[in-house]
Amino acid sequence: MATRLKDTDVVIVGLGAVGGVAALPLTQAGLDVVGLEAGTWLTKRDFAPDELRNNYRGWPQASQKANQEIPTHRPNAASPLFPRLTIHPMMNGVGGTSLHYWAQSWRLNPWDFKVRSETSRRYGAARIPTGCTVEDWPFGYEELEPYYDKVEFEIGVCGAAGNVNGTIDRRGNIFEGARHREYPMPPLRGTGFTDLMAAAARTLGWHPFPGPAAVNSQRYQNRSACMYHGFCNRGGCHVDAKGSTAVTTIPKAVATGRLKVVTRAHVTSIDADANGRVAGVTYLVDGTEYVQPARVVLLGSYTYENTRLLLLSRSRAYPNGLSNNHGQVGRHYFSHNQTAGVSALFPWKTNSWYGLPAQGVAVDNWADDNFDHSNLDFIGGGNLWVYSDRRPISAASMSTFGKTDKLWGSEWKAFIKENADRTNTSYLQKTTLPYEDNYLDLDPMVKDPLGFSVCRITAEYKDNERKLGLFIQDKMEQWYRAAGAVAVERAPVGPMGPSTHAYGGTRMGDNAETNVVNRWGFSHEVQNLGIIGASVMGTSGARNPTLTAQALAWRTAEYVTKNFNSIAPRRT
Ligand SMILES: Cc1cc2nc3c(=O)[nH]c(=O)nc-3n(C[C@H](O)[C@H](O)[C@H](O)COP(=O)(O)OP(=O)(O)OC[C@H]3O[C@@H](n4cnc5c(N)ncnc54)[C@H](O)[C@@H]3O)c2cc1C
Ligand code: SF4
Repeated sequence: MATRLKDTDVVIVGLGAVGGVAALPLTQAGLDVVGLEAGTWLTKRDFAPDELRNNYRGWPQASQKANQEIPTHRPNAASPLFPRLTIHPMMNGVGGTSLHYWAQSWRLNPWDFKVRSETSRRYGAARIPTGCTVEDWPFGYEELEPYYDKVEFEIGVCGAAGNVNGTIDRRGNIFEGARHREYPMPPLRGTGFTDLMAAAARTLGWHPFPGPAAVNSQRYQNRSACMYHGFCNRGGCHVDAKGSTAVTTIPKAVATGRLKVVTRAHVTSIDADANGRVAGVTYLVDGTEYVQPARVVLLGSYTYENTRLLLLSRSRAYPNGLSNNHGQVGRHYFSHNQTAGVSALFPWKTNSWYGLPAQGVAVDNWADDNFDHSNLDFIGGGNLWVYSDRRPISAASMSTFGKTDKLWGSEWKAFIKENADRTNTSYLQKTTLPYEDNYLDLDPMVKDPLGFSVCRITAEYKDNERKLGLFIQDKMEQWYRAAGAVAVERAPVGPMGPSTHAYGGTRMGDNAETNVVNRWGFSHEVQNLGIIGASVMGTSGARNPTLTAQALAWRTAEYVTKNFNSIAPRRT
């Protein structure tokens, strides 16, 4: 028999990158919030610079929920499942994956909000790929700009502004949308290698700039500046220089006295009443079941779990899953095409044994619609990113660039000894679009240890993504060669398995027939259910999603504070 707890104003499911942000405006406005988090609090002592533990064994070992429900994946409905990943990229803990993410903190480009209409206007509607379900966002970049700004200042983002109120500053990204003020901190410092790459980009007539990061480039809000140790690529920061929500917005929300954080709380369903509104959620702590009644529920458990929890939460009012009477939950799914990378070998050392993946140099000339696509056979583009980060195991796994065909023994060891610090692998994020036949649903066969179906991904990159991938590889090779690379290698376009940048499944839009949530992030069907995270995003742009998802979460939370009485059913 479940224990029924005291009613609260708002329940947030998942206190990660987005739930951890939403908690702050809610509590500051005086609402009582319960944050149900599957993981635990972690301390600096948990963040060892240990590549084996962080990058290969999955962590934190204390709470391994994500690793017990790794989504299955297949390219299309006729294909068998591909082998399942052995560790889930996301993690469980207060702060969620913002504890161990790279912390690149990009805004989307204004074009990303209007992909369908802007493509049709500039090149004709026929340029939208067949089967693509992309829609314009229900609002433009300008609407989100104040929320980007709020989050940048709360979590602490460093960077160089390229466009302040329409004035272009060539030290930053000249292609970005207008921001109304500078970043709160200057960018992270460059390295000899990233400076050299920046100079090479200029010889090509491109515009290099330092990328934005939720990492302190100087002491900020009483947290340390970055020490450039490295090992925080899938690892936490042991001096709190990374702006994870665990050290920024969540403690501030707790300090209001209105946020109750419940750890090890595994939410198993979101419960609807007979009127079709949510009444609260059911969760387990070490096998004991609790019901937390709430007037508003905000679901922020990352794209795969947001979708899975809705589909698992069936009721008389929602027989196919909560908020799924229009059959839209799981649709318009896509994951950023981060595959098709490019690596280079240089004839000298790059000195990359220190630093972090958010410390690098970007080129946006080939991103979004920043260049003319009239004579190209794809839409969208890619952000080219070169950064400083090297760890022993990944270094020893480097390609031999055809210089030796041995993968073991003394010849291979000699190659690695000479070249481990002479190589670089770029990070190429490219526009990815949603398609009719790319979707998430519940796997009919594979279950988690509680017996609930895991999420199943049915998705593959289509022609547009493949052609764009080749184009961006050409540009990256050109850049490496201009910097003096003696060999360049390209990786193939990979499968669309579980991703760190997973979008859609609960898309946002004005049309209830094609979207799960409205422009405020609230369900079209369930008056008091809000959904936060990249699952509401309908486009990816060429940049990581978190800052946009956090800005949206702040906006949704603010909407709750201003409309609580009309959203929340009255207490009976
Ligand atoms: C190695 C790595 C590097 C990355 N680098 C970047 C980057 O540089 N820039 C960027 O923008 N993005 C990056 N990302 C992606 C980024 O981490 C995600 O976009 C972001 O964390 C998503 O926020 P979220 O709150 O939706 O999910 P999370 O941050 O994962 O939070 C979800 C939370 O919900 C909890 N939860 C899940 N299910 C339940 C349940 N049933 N009950 C209760 N709680 C639950 C989880 O424990 C977790 O704490 C990276 C990701 C990884 C893995
Ligand atoms: S490199 Fe910077 S962000 Fe990473 S662990 Fe060190 S201080 Fe923290």
